[in-house]
Amino acid sequence: MTISLPIQNDPGRAGAAGHPAPDAPARAWLPDRLIDSHGRTIRDLRLSITDRCNFRCVYCMDPDFRYMPKTQLLSLEEYLRLVRICLGLGITKVRITGGEPTLYPRLDELIAELGRMNISDLAMTTNGSLLDQMPLAQWRRDGLHRITLSLDSLRPERVQAITRTATTAESVIRAIHLAHAAGFSPVKVNAVIMRGVNDDEVADFADFALEHGIDMRLIEFMPLDSSRAWNRNQVVGADEMIEAIRPRHELIAVEEDDPSSTSMNFTFSDNSRAGRPPMAMGGRRVTSFQSEPRIGIIAPVTRPFCGACSRLRITADGKVRPCLFSLSEWDLRSVLRSDAADEEVRRSIVNAVWTKQAGHGIGSGAFVPPERTMSAIGG
Ligand code: SAM
Ligand code: SF4
Repeated sequence: MTISLPIQNDPGRAGAAGHPAPDAPARAWLPDRLIDSHGRTIRDLRLSITDRCNFRCVYCMDPDFRYMPKTQLLSLEEYLRLVRICLGLGITKVRITGGEPTLYPRLDELIAELGRMNISDLAMTTNGSLLDQMPLAQWRRDGLHRITLSLDSLRPERVQAITRTATTAESVIRAIHLAHAAGFSPVKVNAVIMRGVNDDEVADFADFALEHGIDMRLIEFMPLDSSRAWNRNQVVGADEMIEAIRPRHELIAVEEDDPSSTSMNFTFSDNSRAGRPPMAMGGRRVTSFQSEPRIGIIAPVTRPFCGACSRLRITADGKVRPCLFSLSEWDLRSVLRSDAADEEVRRSIVNAVWTKQAGHGIGSGAFVPPERTMSAIGG
């Protein structure tokens, strides 16, 4: 699949329901914070550094998915410049993502440089398959605060069927332990729950969170798969996930201090902990973990959190996407490569954010999925 997108640097473009109106006003002055036309302040940047991946997860990337030409991807220096400009606009959280970020050849340098920028919260999402070859302790020292891994099943044949690789759950379990040993805490693990694929493992994931001392995040399947196979019947909603866990574990809802948090969070009652399964790894028993086990349910489809959204995305080829589901993008690459001053880059970002749509509109009759799919956006 080739990606061709409407590219524009002018804010205000007609779109599907919830998208900015064609006459949305351009900002005449440059604020020092990122605020959208619905009054939301944007503080959280998802920076994709590659669209390449060594997996082909069924809910994300087709086997014959076509990558963007390398020349279209930004250089390390361009990523760093964009982050620096975003920090000047009030961004406080940066999450490095992809594609698979551990495939990015200059990842160590990127983390070290971002670490020097003293970002309050610097995180990375990775499928974890290559973490045993990565300098995790060095990343931690360089200023990476948090790591989120992905694991969609605890059953060997399913892990392989979902990722379309020969990978194993053990490689992610090893990555969890390596991340803990390097001082990352909490370690989060994402699982996309799909009906008929892994929905019978929801309670097992709760056991897994207890067993490994992780924050296990169960995510509703979103219409961002490159095969365009998503349909509403495949979505396992938040309520159903919670009901699946309750017979096995007593969950306690956590009061969230961050209103823009994407997840509904739960800890386990003492009763649940008492019944915690023994921790084992590759036949070796592990006797401690570093953080309180949790369950987070991320429910963009059945319980959209758009009203409190504080996120902005920049893709590996330098496009600003105010929303995961944006139908238009703002091209920073051509601005960066035209010798523009920082002020001009700032203006593009500010204008793009201003047009952030009120909501994604999944479920409304007018919903149109974006042409760019998850791996090319950055999750
Ligand atoms: N490759 C890394 C990984 O898998 O963790 C980082 C990029 S991936 C696009 C980021 C997150 O997006 C992953 O946790 C993945 O499970 C999630 N994701 C991908 N496609 C999705 C979809 N259609 N619906 C919900 N989540 C999705
Ligand atoms: Fe790759 Fe992550 Fe997409 Fe899976 S979810 S195909 S690991 S980018």
